[in-house]
Amino acid sequence: MKILVIGGGGREHALAWKLKQSPRVDQMLCAPGNAGTAAIGENVAIKANDLPALVRFAKENRVDLTVVGPDDPLAAGIVDLFVAQKLRVFGPTKSAARIESSKIFAKELMRAQKIPTAEANTFSDSDEAFRYCERLKFPVVIKADGLALGKGVIIAPDAAAARSTIDAMMNEGRFGDAGRHIVIEEFLRGSECSLHALVDGKNYQLLESARDHKRAFDGDLGPNTGGMGAFSPANNWRTELEDQFDKKIMRPLLRGLHEEGITFRGLLYPGLMISADGARVLEFNCRFGDPETQVILPRMKSDLLPRLEATIDGKIDRYTIEWDARAAVTVVLASGGYPGKYETGKPISGLEEAAKLDHVQIFHAGTKRANGKLVTNGGRVLAVTALGSTIATARERAYDAVSRIHFEGCHYRRDIAMSAIAAVVE
Ligand code: AMP
Repeated sequence: MKILVIGGGGREHALAWKLKQSPRVDQMLCAPGNAGTAAIGENVAIKANDLPALVRFAKENRVDLTVVGPDDPLAAGIVDLFVAQKLRVFGPTKSAARIESSKIFAKELMRAQKIPTAEANTFSDSDEAFRYCERLKFPVVIKADGLALGKGVIIAPDAAAARSTIDAMMNEGRFGDAGRHIVIEEFLRGSECSLHALVDGKNYQLLESARDHKRAFDGDLGPNTGGMGAFSPANNWRTELEDQFDKKIMRPLLRGLHEEGITFRGLLYPGLMISADGARVLEFNCRFGDPETQVILPRMKSDLLPRLEATIDGKIDRYTIEWDARAAVTVVLASGGYPGKYETGKPISGLEEAAKLDHVQIFHAGTKRANGKLVTNGGRVLAVTALGSTIATARERAYDAVSRIHFEGCHYRRDIAMSAIAAVVE
């Protein structure tokens, strides 16, 4: 089979790496890809948001299956375009992707189906939003309705901060159209957990749990990023929660989508906040997480390809997934300045030595080859994953590999998965 993976980050390298292991795959293409995907297949110089060019490419090159990595092309309707051309594609349609691309849509659906989530109100008028804020208990969470590269969620500690955030989003257009409508919601306390589910329209198959680290610096300080590291399994996910997750979250969600005339087929990943009274939904994502994919897929023993196909065909109930019992830890290496301004083109050294280590898998994100040399080409540069019998061992192995890799300005968190180890010691 000829497979095309759309996107060029660590998630896409991990997907391409896993799918390439399937005995049925003989050609792996990635658009636009990175230096990591180039090493296991062929990169195609088409950007992930150039939908017409991607459709044309898939048709002309008789691609058997396209797997869409990022949220933007899904929200723009790439799956609808592929389906219209009778091309096989993994991912939700434009209307199903609204569960991620419109926080207002997601919130209204959760409210209608009584899915546990933060109390929230939506606003299209900034004066109304200002007035509402005067009556609130702080902190509150202010969210741009649309996609904003993971930056459209602001936690406002007081009324002044809330006012300036509302102003920036609704009146100054900080997030363009994405911020014209906003959600203001209650701040939830607890610990976060990411769950991934292959959803085939009617049924779903849960993947192993993971936790990511969104803030830039150690101790959960600094600005939010795309994600600076992850570990799996999540230490706050308990099997008792699975029943609640099924009955209170997934079944009502599928029912709610069905009532809207929407069939969701693809990867659905709810971000959860876990507290003493159970799990509440922070958000729904409609694609694989980054860096969760880089920490989950190395633990998956089963072939991913037939499970993606079964998801498309509405037959996921015929499959189970076999998992490696070992834990995994992923550390992201980022460019100096990320998530703010950063420079690219810095030579990367030590990667080959690090990649030779046992139990270590390195996924590329912002990398490319220039004159034969590997250089940085984005904010998040590499994701270094290691497996181990415990989180502590996996973590040691990941950081051992990280210590061998160098590029100018490289920064990474030193405390990935520390919370899981501290919990074991207690
Ligand atoms: P979202 O894109 O909605 O998941 O928000 C991004 C991040 O903001 C989440 O991973 C949480 O860390 C934080 N967040 C979002 N909503 C809330 C909330 N209601 N209470 C506390 N933290 C939140």
